[in-house]
Amino acid sequence: MAAETSDFRILGLNQWQQVLLGMILGIIAGILIKTQAAPENIAVIAERFRTIGSIFFNLIKMVIAPLIFFALISGITSMSDPNTFKRIGVKAVSAYFMTAMFAVVLGIAFGLIFQPGVGMDIDVSSLASALPDAAKNSHEMHIGEFLMSLIPTNFFKALSEDQYLQIVVFSIFTGLIMNSLGDNAKGARDVINSFAKVFFKMIELIVRLAPLAIFGFMAWMVAVQGVDVIQKLAILFVCVLAACFTQYIIFGVLIILFARLSPMPFFKKMASTQIMAFSTSSSKATLSTAMREIQERCGVSEKSANFVLPLGACINMDGTAIYLGICAMFFAQAFGVELSWTAYPILILTCTLGSIGAAGIPSGSIIFMGMVLHSIGVPIEGIGLILGIDRLLDMVRTTINITGDCAITMIVDKSENLMDVEKYYSKD
Ligand code: ASP
Repeated sequence: MAAETSDFRILGLNQWQQVLLGMILGIIAGILIKTQAAPENIAVIAERFRTIGSIFFNLIKMVIAPLIFFALISGITSMSDPNTFKRIGVKAVSAYFMTAMFAVVLGIAFGLIFQPGVGMDIDVSSLASALPDAAKNSHEMHIGEFLMSLIPTNFFKALSEDQYLQIVVFSIFTGLIMNSLGDNAKGARDVINSFAKVFFKMIELIVRLAPLAIFGFMAWMVAVQGVDVIQKLAILFVCVLAACFTQYIIFGVLIILFARLSPMPFFKKMASTQIMAFSTSSSKATLSTAMREIQERCGVSEKSANFVLPLGACINMDGTAIYLGICAMFFAQAFGVELSWTAYPILILTCTLGSIGAAGIPSGSIIFMGMVLHSIGVPIEGIGLILGIDRLLDMVRTTINITGDCAITMIVDKSENLMDVEKYYSKD
């Protein structure tokens, strides 16, 4: 089951070509606004373009929580043998956890080597006002609270508030109970499978609007931010790019080592998914494209595409883990906070939890940045400083996030001998 958008063409262009076109036209529109509009009007005009993108994200948000709920249960109930579920579940969760921890360590290592925060002159008081509300609220969040927050006290509240980790916990619990009831739960299983189809159909239609949304977001971003924000934080920017690129290569190495496959078809066939992730900065908005591509082009089984991949989209964000690790080092250096050896395990733990908890939406990790900085005694006011480049780096880390989900899904699928290897190596 996956959204079928590949054959939806406009002017003969397939979906990823439309997305690229939307991105290019958006950049041109943004440059025009920035250079042609009166300075006092730029923000107002840009905001109108942003609205186009926001409508798209509201539509995605409208369906993504129920989609994940139904897809996960549908995936779990397709593994009625409890041992199969346990084996695939343990493999997926440990692979996601290990890659996230590794990504944090990679981020910290890049932060230590390139020292992006050394020499920054930061005025904390002037930054406090730029701090987003989400990050302010995360100030007081502790790890215990984070763990407790995984259990929904009210499932409908979790759904309505987009609490994805709570939805995952509830879906796994429901799916396991349905499996244990066998034929007694057949009716419920059929209903869930039908609803999964309904929500896939909905997202299939919504995703068709992505090129338009990307056009609006790009125009807004280029018009209000431009590229000059990068100059001030150039080392941090390059450091995050370099670490993400390293992680990208590591995915290839993992495919060679654990799936015993050449990674080249994977990188080639994932391009349209990656373009979608890059342009939307949202793993959740990219999920349906990834589910389709990984099945139709990489030969991954429906079982894994329905269970391992959405699980990854909820709990695995390697690009975000790298970003949190590097930013923590950046702020510690910028504020002159000496980190003791004991701070590093805490940092690895909080960044890993932050990457697990981050919502797969644009700037979804900012809320956890506060938790990470707070855990190592770095002032959270600094977050305001990186907001200018956050949106640009979000495009890169989201690409890494979804690539990681797909790579692990493929490795798990191959290890279960479910994968159609011939399809993986086929030309299209
Ligand atoms: N935008 C990222 C995603 O959707 C999350 C983040 O790092 O802000 O995967």
